[in-house]
Amino acid sequence: MEKIRRRLALTGIAVALGVVTTLARAEFPDKPVTLIVPFAAGGPSDKIARDLAEALRKKLGQTVIVENVGGAGGTLGTSRVAKAPPDGYTLLVHHIGFATAPSLYRKLPYQGINDFAFLGLINEAPSTLIAKPTMPAKTFDELRKYIAADPTKINLAHAGVGSASQLCGLMLQSALKTNLTSVPYKGTGPAMTDLMGGQVDIMCEQATNAVPQIEGGKVKAYAVTSTQRMTLPALAALPTLSEAGLKDFSVTVWHGLYAPKDTPAPVLKKLNDALKAALKDPDLIKRSEALGISVVNDGRLEPAGHKHFVETEVARWKKVIEASGQYAD
Ligand code: ASP
Repeated sequence: MEKIRRRLALTGIAVALGVVTTLARAEFPDKPVTLIVPFAAGGPSDKIARDLAEALRKKLGQTVIVENVGGAGGTLGTSRVAKAPPDGYTLLVHHIGFATAPSLYRKLPYQGINDFAFLGLINEAPSTLIAKPTMPAKTFDELRKYIAADPTKINLAHAGVGSASQLCGLMLQSALKTNLTSVPYKGTGPAMTDLMGGQVDIMCEQATNAVPQIEGGKVKAYAVTSTQRMTLPALAALPTLSEAGLKDFSVTVWHGLYAPKDTPAPVLKKLNDALKAALKDPDLIKRSEALGISVVNDGRLEPAGHKHFVETEVARWKKVIEASGQYAD
């Protein structure tokens, strides 16, 4: 009897040890984390996610993979994350389109922003108005006249309905009171390749992706969409669109990090801590500033502050979209 009791006790200890070992092994993250970018490789969201992945890797001690799921203005990749297991291993890096899609799309393949847990705002960047290198116009004023002469022959590239480039392009057309021919891509990475090659004419693109091409003389740049001029050498000579004559024109593109809703609180906390630490990474800050990106360093880095900010953006854009009456299917 005593023997049996001792054996049972030993089995109990072994089981307990097994549980402890499994728990220790299962401590998040014990395998690579994937950041889904809802746009094609080579664009601003992709670049931001790759820089962030490297900084997060240092903090989490795990490989952080970037996967591009482009298409439908970012809604395909967003839906992929909404439907992923809520375990912290599949996250979304998305921009302003995260807040505009729920008003813009008549039908979304996910429920909207409530399908997600908010992990913190990452950064903000202005856009630029750029054109193919052979565009004859030298200044914004000349470009404006060139467009007015025959708007139908101007191809405006963007990253799909709901993308930042498309929203900025819509605002541009409305300010110029014109209608251009839209050419959607799965991201502004491939769109930029075609712009440089002259297959499309103009594009609104975040400084993130435009600065290297402006510096290399591969595109023509006319203006920035910020309310203040940018001090970055590649952009310093450019007027703001508001200064150039489109009063009150202002577009700032922000990016945030999200997990599927129902992700356990300890995992969210670990990811938020890693994000906060990553955004203090001197390498990441240096690389971001060189591309005109401001890394967030305020209350929007907290999940509650991030959520509140996005809700404000959803409400702001809902009005703009309803007033435009332009919806996507
Ligand atoms: N910059 C793109 C946009 O216009 C998306 C991307 O490819 O990053 O939304």
